[in-house]
Amino acid sequence: MSSTTDHPTAAKPFVANLQRMQWHDGALWFVRSKRDRQAASLPEWEYLRELASATKAHTQANLAELLETFERNATAQGAVVHWAADAEEHNAIVLRLLQEHGVERVVKSKSMLTEECHLNPHLEAHGIEVVDTDLGERIIQLRDEPPSHIVLPAIHLKKEDVGDTFHKHLGTEASAADPQYLTEAARGHLRNKFLNAQAGITGVNFAIAETGGIVICTNEGNADLGTSLPPLHIACMGIEKLIPRQADLGIFLRLLARSATGQPITTYSSHYQGPKPGGQLHIVLVDNGRTKLRDSDAFREALNCIRCGACMNTCPVYRRSGGHSYSAVVPGPIGSVLSPASDTARHRSLPFACSLCGSCTDVCPVKIPLHHQLLAWRKEIARQGLLPASKQWAMKAAAVLFAHPKLFGAAGWMGRTALRLLPHGLTHNRLNTWSVERELPQAPKSSFRKWYRQHRRASAPLPVVTVSDAEKQSRKGDDE
Ligand code: SF4
Repeated sequence: MSSTTDHPTAAKPFVANLQRMQWHDGALWFVRSKRDRQAASLPEWEYLRELASATKAHTQANLAELLETFERNATAQGAVVHWAADAEEHNAIVLRLLQEHGVERVVKSKSMLTEECHLNPHLEAHGIEVVDTDLGERIIQLRDEPPSHIVLPAIHLKKEDVGDTFHKHLGTEASAADPQYLTEAARGHLRNKFLNAQAGITGVNFAIAETGGIVICTNEGNADLGTSLPPLHIACMGIEKLIPRQADLGIFLRLLARSATGQPITTYSSHYQGPKPGGQLHIVLVDNGRTKLRDSDAFREALNCIRCGACMNTCPVYRRSGGHSYSAVVPGPIGSVLSPASDTARHRSLPFACSLCGSCTDVCPVKIPLHHQLLAWRKEIARQGLLPASKQWAMKAAAVLFAHPKLFGAAGWMGRTALRLLPHGLTHNRLNTWSVERELPQAPKSSFRKWYRQHRRASAPLPVVTVSDAEKQSRKGDDE
């Protein structure tokens, strides 16, 4: 079994700082509110979501054919298309390309896929300097931290933290926290890196089968600099980034920026159709578990994700536990669906880091039923015997209790009596972490069954439904 750090344990350092936790919660809620205003400003919002969801479903149903069309059209435009079955193959392809071109420094922009494949350490181990150029990504790269959010990678940091980081690595004034000053310092530092890079690596937001073109969305223009200055551009994309036609793009561009940051459109939506004159464009298509996910009826729709981050901004658990508590490249609700698909044992606690409030499903621009999928994962994790022993025993005990009405009645009586008699100090002490923020309910005078018998109007006896009856009934329902 893979080693695992469960979500509550990984969240402890973040949760321990109450003030920072509240600030993080508020910062993300601010972004979520902006998203709500933008969504409400478009009367056709729900229609766009329907279209996007249907387009993605169509793409998945015809994925092999569309990928071949994309390869044909991209090649016709002058790009070179590579196929990678997994992260290892992806890293090997990128390294080979860079070595063939004698690259010593590469500038990189907007790619969660390269994070997923751990490309940076692989290239650095072979003597190639990799500079992340998105401001947030550069900040966390200097701090040697993973991103905590897919759109706002440094959202867990305050401007004072950024000031300290820049003071240490870029020589800015100590304790500087003025965003303008810090941004100017980062700009000067990155400009130098751009000018001296021999290759640019980018992610891909959308790849269009019909044209063979790719689209990259940024707010800082860093992808544009990274691809226009050096002669070699390597674009790395998961195969799920495909859309069928150019005409579909508008739907996704309208949804993406509004859902991500509450902007009507990202500042730059750059289209690449073939290499620039005198340059080379290589596109690496990566599977890395995606076709396996596509074959799963329960979790297929998770591949529709356009990585807007809206589900994170709205999630009450993510906002209060921080992205690093998910111990995965993609955190939050969608990460809790995707991570167990790649390694169920390692990420078995993530589907439980969820209140099942359904807010993620409500905001998802491509209508992924996220909270239903998280519930499905819980069932699957139990089926695979990966629940912690305490939960397994509790479930077994509950099954026995619910299957024996007399035992259930006796347990109810014991619970009600205990609630009345136990001293508060016994139930609320340091050993019972559950009670830190909670009070127990007042014990009712009698059981619900007794209350029902006394108050029901009809004289028919109370039906007793056993677990096996309920099971038979539900199977009958399934058959029907
Ligand atoms: S699951 Fe939906 S809301 Fe979450 S990042 Fe993906 S597209 Fe956005």
